[in-house]
This record gives sequence, structure tokens and C-alpha cells, in this order.
Amino acid sequence: MKTTVFCGEELSLLGMGNMRLPTGEDKKIDFDRAAEIIDTLYKGGVNYYDTAYVYHEGESEVFLGKCMKRYPRDSFRLATKFHCLANHDFKAVFEEQLQRLDTDYIDFYLLHAIGDNTADEYLTGGALEYFREQKRLGRIRRLGFSFHASLDTLRRVVAANDWDFAQIQLNYLDWTLYKSKEQYEILTEAGIPVVVMEPVRGGRLAKLTDSTEAELRAAHPDWSIPSWAFRFIMGLDNVHMILSGMSTLEQAEDNLKTFTEGGPLSEEDRALLMDVADRFREQISVPCTGCRYCTENCPMEIDIPAMMELYNKFKLDGRFALRNMDKTEHNAAECIGCGACASICPQHIDIPSVMSELAAEYEKLPKRKD
Ligand code: SF4
Ligand code: SF4
Repeated sequence: MKTTVFCGEELSLLGMGNMRLPTGEDKKIDFDRAAEIIDTLYKGGVNYYDTAYVYHEGESEVFLGKCMKRYPRDSFRLATKFHCLANHDFKAVFEEQLQRLDTDYIDFYLLHAIGDNTADEYLTGGALEYFREQKRLGRIRRLGFSFHASLDTLRRVVAANDWDFAQIQLNYLDWTLYKSKEQYEILTEAGIPVVVMEPVRGGRLAKLTDSTEAELRAAHPDWSIPSWAFRFIMGLDNVHMILSGMSTLEQAEDNLKTFTEGGPLSEEDRALLMDVADRFREQISVPCTGCRYCTENCPMEIDIPAMMELYNKFKLDGRFALRNMDKTEHNAAECIGCGACASICPQHIDIPSVMSELAAEYEKLPKRKD
């Protein structure tokens, strides 16, 4: 197992993210299957286990507490997080987390998913001060934050505390797409060690298109497709922990292989991967230019370019990206499939098919209560 020096300790470079554990038909964590993954990783040298108050609606922390109790407490590190929107009462949450995890201290504690709309609450609402105090008391060993917001907010958060580490979404697609590169650079300049989440983009980079996978396989037939994503990150010097939310034993075994035998990409392989990433994005997207020629002809007055943009987001981010589709007044759900738009589209996009796919995927989303 590759190791890393993270906050002064030698730890495994691979960490287990416990947000997508295997579940049974009742949607509860399947303890035996999940524990088998943990046991395989632990035996393979993984000693960093990340969870959060909200994962699996609280069950992830309970599971991890029970599962890790079978191992000496000083042989692994626990990371968990406080999310202010899940429960504003940071003191009560922290006490509950210690109970759930069945421990007296948390090794790595994070303010969870700081966003543009929550930064103030985290930084000046008492939570940061309280967790700093818990660190002074030894109940938290290292204090950091995870982040999903603008670069301006990141700069503000960085300046607000002497952070031990920060966790960001980083993978070869988001490197340019969602400004992961800039986030990484801001943290590196500030001397804050980086923990990476979503290295395989929630599984999206584990399965590419046939032709882009073929390109990667031709270069290295013995590398798995997800291993390219991990190797890309291994080349970044300020990444000190790479979390993977493993759901199956096969993923755990493949990751152990990557982090035992694998290493950073060569310049040539990195260039190939970035090229492949561009082609992958093109292949799964519709090439809408936003010219709006199509909208004139639509009898349902659907905002077709907006729907094309949403479709591209859905192909990258999954169905959840469609949760606000109904906020667009005339959307894909109203399409009657007349085809008047497709005949005029200079990009030859099969608009009715895109609309039909969007409407079907939207229907599969859990319905909001409001
Ligand atoms: S196929 Fe759908 S989107 Fe296209 S013009 Fe007809 S109703 Fe509008
Ligand atoms: S005509 Fe085609 S390219 Fe132009 S906005 Fe409509 S869908 Fe997009």
C-alpha cells in the first residue's frame, strides 16, 4: 500500500469513503457485505476511514463505529463531518457523533461541504470556534473542511483559520470543468494539505464510452479504467489522501491493486488522458450552440437550449442534476415529439429523443414533498 505523510503521520494514501456502502432491500446498510469491504481494505493496509453525520441518514457513522470496534483504535484514523444544514446544533451533533462512532476522539474532523450560502454560519456562527476548542481539548486531532463553492469563498475560508487540511472534489474531468485545479492551487499556496474526494466522480469515470475506453486500454491493457483516475491524482504533490467511496468488494480489490502496484502517470499518459477526457465529454454531450433557431417552431414553447444544457449536465452529473427541471416553465416533460425543432437544428441534434430521455429520467427522481 502506498503511504503518505499527512499531518505529520504516515498513513495509507487510499482512504475509504463510507457514503455508498452496500445496502439491503430495506435500504439499510448491509453490515456483513460492508464489513467485508472494510476488512479487505484494512488487511490491504488502508487505515483512513471517512464518514459524515449525514451519510446513509446517520447509519454510516453507526456502522463504522461498530465495524472498527473490532480493530485496535490506534491502528486506524476516523474522519467525520458536521453539516450545518442537517442540524444547526453543532455541540449536540458532535456529542452524538462520538457516541455513534463509539470513540472518545475524532482524528480528522471537517466542516462539511462549505458552500457560498453556508460559509458565514460555519465561520462566524460559533461552529468553528467550538470545534477549535474541541481540538484544544484533544477530542479532535485535526480540523479541516470540505468544500463545494466559489473560489472567492474558498479564499475567505482559507483565511479564516489555521486549517490542518482541506477536502475537495478533484478528478481529471473536474480539473478543468469545475475549477478543481484552481482550488488545488489556492490550497497549495496556503500550505494546506489536500484530501481528494470523488476521484472517480461518483463512478462516472469508472465507465467511459467504448471508444475512449479502447484508447486507454490500448495504452495500458493491464490498467483498469478507474485506475487512470487515481493515477492522475497521484501525480499531484499536495494531495495527501485519496478517498474512494467503495460499494463493492471488486472496487476495493481493484483500488488496492492500483494503490499497491500503480503510480503517477507519465507526461505522455497524462496528455493522453486529458485528450480522452475531452473526447469523452464531447461524446456524451449534445453539441448545442444556443443559437435558438429551434425555439421559433416549438408549439409547446419549450426552452430547448436550456433543456440541451440540462441534458449535458445530466450526462456528467447523473439524474439528480434534473431535480429543478420543473422550474423551467415549459420543459422537456411537455414535449409532444412533433419534430418541428429537429428539422431546423444546424447541429442535427435529435431533439425529440433528448426531450424524451430527459422526461423519463426526471420521472424517476423521488418526488419533492412541496
Ligand atoms: S419535438 Fe418537442 S421540443 Fe421539438 S418542437 Fe416538438 S414539442 Fe417542441
Ligand atoms: S437549433 Fe440546435 S443548436 Fe440551436 S439552440 Fe436549438 S438545439 Fe441548440
